[in-house]
Amino acid sequence: MTRIEQQLVRLIRHDGPIGVDRYMGLCLEQYYGARDPFGAEGDFITAPEVSQMFGELIGLWAAEVWRLMGRPASFRLIELGPGRGTLMADALRAGRLMPGFREALSLHLVEMSPALRRKQAETLAASGVAPVWRANLSDALEGPAIIIANEFLDALPVRQFQMTETGWRERLVGLDDAGQLRFGLSPVQTIEVREAAPVGTVLERAEAAADVLAQIGRSVATESGAALFLDYGASAPGVGDTLQAVKRHRFVNVFETPGEADLTVQVDFGRLAPAVRRAGAAVQGPVTQGAFLLALGLAQRAEALARRATPEQGAAISAAVARLTEGGETGMGALFKALAVADPRLPALPGFA
Ligand code: SAH
Repeated sequence: MTRIEQQLVRLIRHDGPIGVDRYMGLCLEQYYGARDPFGAEGDFITAPEVSQMFGELIGLWAAEVWRLMGRPASFRLIELGPGRGTLMADALRAGRLMPGFREALSLHLVEMSPALRRKQAETLAASGVAPVWRANLSDALEGPAIIIANEFLDALPVRQFQMTETGWRERLVGLDDAGQLRFGLSPVQTIEVREAAPVGTVLERAEAAADVLAQIGRSVATESGAALFLDYGASAPGVGDTLQAVKRHRFVNVFETPGEADLTVQVDFGRLAPAVRRAGAAVQGPVTQGAFLLALGLAQRAEALARRATPEQGAAISAAVARLTEGGETGMGALFKALAVADPRLPALPGFA
């Protein structure tokens, strides 16, 4: 048993079954708190680790948004869940192309993991920009802001509900007779979900993600700015259990080695968009990550890099473009979506026209 598994069993024995959101939150705090999970030797690979072009294009996106905002003399560049800091290092380098952009920004990183904060400090040491770390978004948001979040929303806890013969019940994590973690249902019906659905339907409620989008929506609507979210999920409101665990690039059972596998859900952009509009901000997208990156000039950037590259490097660049833009089993281009939350006074942002 992992240490967190022992804690979970004790907690459930004492308090009774816990929500899927609490299970996810406790496991992920442990998971990210203690490790650098990225890359070939880790558990999974994210787009900024696939190619420097990803962060560079996002840096140019941010610089162009800053120009569209009227070049405020100072603004916060905020990244949510910066991982190794790779995206931000590439973005800051590319941001040099826009005169005044780097001088105007102060960098705020929202990161809960002590291990990843250390890694981010190392990665950004040569960037010439000194970051400030924050544990929460609410501590980072102030004044005009440009916010970047790649694969952040998918790590935020969701609650799950299941339709039964007698109405919606919350899916809970409890213990079986042998004391092993297992799923169950709340003994009483929940009144929190009211949608009609066939018996057996599972529905996820991303309350933490909705809260992040609403906070950002209120901020950009009053103080100006925009946020870019890149994550995997469907554009139209969905149903179904999307919780998954990944360890060493393979799917594992969500109760296998809790705290030692990455737990994620698909981001339900269709259900999250109304929270943004209620907060007074505009939603742009979602568009597929493939379409977004190509609109930002991925193909041209790849060509420019390939001109100065060896044949092997050239092949790696083409493979990265395919990985980032194509659909299918290994591609990130179609399942991943880009969504912007923007000050409604701003025009269509790059990649969303
Ligand atoms: N954006 C990076 C990393 C994605 S993994 C990349 O694309 O490579 C998710 C990141 O979010 C990690 O840095 C993790 O530690 C952080 N994270 C997850 N949940 C968080 C939370 N509730 N608060 C702050 N950071 C969180």
